[in-house]
Amino acid sequence: MILHTQPRKAWNAYDFLLLEAFAIYEAEKCSQCGYPVWICHNEDEAYRIEFDLVDDVCYAKREIDMVNEANSQSKTYKAPAGIQQRPVAKSWTGLPLDDAMRTAYYETKYPSVISD
Ligand SMILES: [Zn+2]
Repeated sequence: MILHTQPRKAWNAYDFLLLEAFAIYEAEKCSQCGYPVWICHNEDEAYRIEFDLVDDVCYAKREIDMVNEANSQSKTYKAPAGIQQRPVAKSWTGLPLDDAMRTAYYETKYPSVISD
């Protein structure tokens, strides 16, 4: 397979089906918004697709935007060439960012989907 192992043996039919499914997924994904193109590019009057916009907060991007905004206000700050900041997550409470956190997030966000 592709992830976590080296492809030492020939791929089986399942491997090729997964690759084909991934290729279809990527081909159908809009490069601008991430929606399937058959939804966001659809002009069929039978559907008359419209979109509502909802806030989707990324606290990592928010931190980068806040620092960039503060730096842009400075008259002396000059961004170093070739450097792009990336967020590194940490917990103020010291709790580990592990699978339990992931599970709790999805149970809170999508309680009807998660069932154990
Ligand atoms: Zn789109």
